[in-house]
Parts: sequence; C-alpha cells; structure tokens
Amino acid sequence: MDYESFKDNMPSDDELEKIKLFNGVNFASIKILLADSQIISISKNETLIEAGKPEEYMYLVLSGRMRVQLQKSDDQPITILEQGESIGEISILDQQPTSGYVIADIDSRVLMLSEETLWKVLETSHEVSHNLLRTLAYRLRFGNSVMHKIHSLLREFEYDATIDPLTGFYNRRWLSKMLERLIQRSKGGESESRTLSVIMMDLDHFKRFNDTNGHLAGDRALNSIARSLTAHLRPEDTITRYGGEEFLAVLPDSDIGDASQVAERLRVAVEQTALFAVEGDSLPPLTLSLGIAQMQTDDNQDSLIGSADKALYRAKHHGRNRVSE
Ligand code: GH3
Ligand code: MG
Ligand code: MG
Repeated sequence: MDYESFKDNMPSDDELEKIKLFNGVNFASIKILLADSQIISISKNETLIEAGKPEEYMYLVLSGRMRVQLQKSDDQPITILEQGESIGEISILDQQPTSGYVIADIDSRVLMLSEETLWKVLETSHEVSHNLLRTLAYRLRFGNSVMHKIHSLLREFEYDATIDPLTGFYNRRWLSKMLERLIQRSKGGESESRTLSVIMMDLDHFKRFNDTNGHLAGDRALNSIARSLTAHLRPEDTITRYGGEEFLAVLPDSDIGDASQVAERLRVAVEQTALFAVEGDSLPPLTLSLGIAQMQTDDNQDSLIGSADKALYRAKHHGRNRVSE
C-alpha cells in the first residue's frame, strides 16, 4: 500500500464526482477540509481493513473495487464496494471494531477520512450530512437482510447438529446412525454377538403440566429431568430426544434384566427431580412411563424400537409411572 497526501495528488474531478458521499456537494467548500487527508494506492488482494480492529478512518473508493468478507479466506464476499462507495462510517461513528475484512478486488485508490475531518465536513456541508444519512439507512436495511440470512443458516445448522439444545441429548438423526452400528455389532458381524437393549420413555400427563404451569416451566422441567436421566446412565449408554417428551436410551451389553433395573432407576430419578415454576416456586414432580425391549436376532432398528414402544404403551395403559416389558 502506498500513501500520498491529498494535496500532492488531488483526485480528479471525475473521481470526486463519483463519490456518493459528495453527491451534489460544492467541492470548493470542502477541498480545503480534505487537504490533510491521505490517499492510499492499494494493489489487488491487499487488505485495507482487518476484522476485529478498531477503525479510525472512513474510506472512499476513488477508483477500483473492494470486496468485504467475514473471513479473510472466504471466497464469497458479503458485498462489493464499487467506485464511489464508502466503508467504515459505522465503525468510526460508534467506535466499535470492524466486523469484516475489506480487501482490494483490483488495484484501487482509496481516500481516507479521519473522524475529525468527517465531522468538519459534516458541519460544513448539509449535502454531505444528507448523503451520509442515506448511506447509514441503506446499511441498516442491508444489515437486516444479512441478519435474516445468518438466521436461516443458523436454523439449518441447528437441524444438522447432533445435539438437542434443550435436553443436551442426541437427536434422532444421530440415533439412527449410532443404533445401526450397535445392531450390527449385536448380530455378531465381526466377533461374538453381544446383547443390546433399549428403553423408550415418555413423561406422564406433560400436556397438563404445560397447561397448568406454562410452556416455559415445561421447557425447564424437560431440562432438569434430562439432567437427572443422564446422571443415572452409564457412560456407554446413550440417550436421544425421540420426540417432544419422549426419550430413547440405548444400553449396549445389557439384557432385559439389566434394562429393567436401569429403567426402574430412571423412573425413580424423575419422580425425585425437583421442578420449579418460572418465578421460583416449587412444583409437584412429574412421572415417567418406560417400555423396555431386548434386541432379538432378526430385529432391525424399527422393530426393536417398535417393541419398546409397545411396552411403553402397556406401561401407560396400566396406570403410568411404571416400567413394562
Ligand atoms: P401421556 O401421559 O399420555 O403421555 O400424556 P401427555 O400429556 O404427556 O401426552 P401428549 O402427547 O398429549 O402431550 C405431550 C405434550 O408435550 C404436549 C406438548 O406440548 C408437550 N411438549 C412436547 N415438547 C415440548 C417442549 O419442548 N417443551 C414443552 N414445554 N412442552 C413440550
Ligand atoms: Mg407424555
Ligand atoms: Mg408423548
């Protein structure tokens, strides 16, 4: 990057006229204010602004073209600044570090305005103030549309993620991958066969709990119960959020007798989990119904989960808050 002073290397009238900030401005009145400013000649792919650093200047693209990107290595810029456009006005006005990188897309010339100069120019020229307001309004609108895009990307990532944020349990997408491997192992594909059991569980009358205490208290209850369940499983067991208030635990190397013991432990743990209203008042405990099933030689994922689901149905049918086989 090469720095020259404005005085020694005046931008051409053509360059100045293209600057949006100076649109409709009488240059005679502001040229003198710009006399101490500097002009940067920047070569293709050189970085003008680094993300995360405080920025003391606003930059006006006299010629060439700059690209703005969130990461230095991105190959998709979030925006392109053409000749006449500006960058950095928000950072110098709110004194916050910049959020992106600005890199020369082709050889370019850029006029740097210090905060002091910008304020002097704004005080001298109503047109410049007006133009700056328009630019800021545009940035706000553009910012909203970027936020919108980021939000929908985040939602996609959330969908892809393997962990359910409310319970900290694995989600169903992950379950089916993991269960497939365990089923193959249980069938003894490579070595001797190993037992495998699952527990399907569902909170009792959770709709009523939500209706009485509110959805937020329901979310908190799910979170507390999830932590109790995790604390009562072995490290090699896994638990997934199968539905809203339904969970599936997968217990490797466990037969139906082991699963029955674990299930009873989980049932008691839920009954003993303290629950609180949003205001902090204590709430009556929730209970859990559980169905257990052991993997049979000809089972696949669906049939194994189906057996546990049928057992769960029996637990509900026989009065809830119990374990059925
Ligand atoms: P049952 O004993 O027969 O299982 O009765 P239930 O009320 O638990 O069953 P039902 O299927 O009628 O209702 C399930 C309720 O779980 C309804 C739904 O709003 C609630 N629920 C599911 N996911 C969430 C969640 O993430 N947060 C909250 N607060 N509630 C949820
Ligand atoms: Mg339920
Ligand atoms: Mg349910």
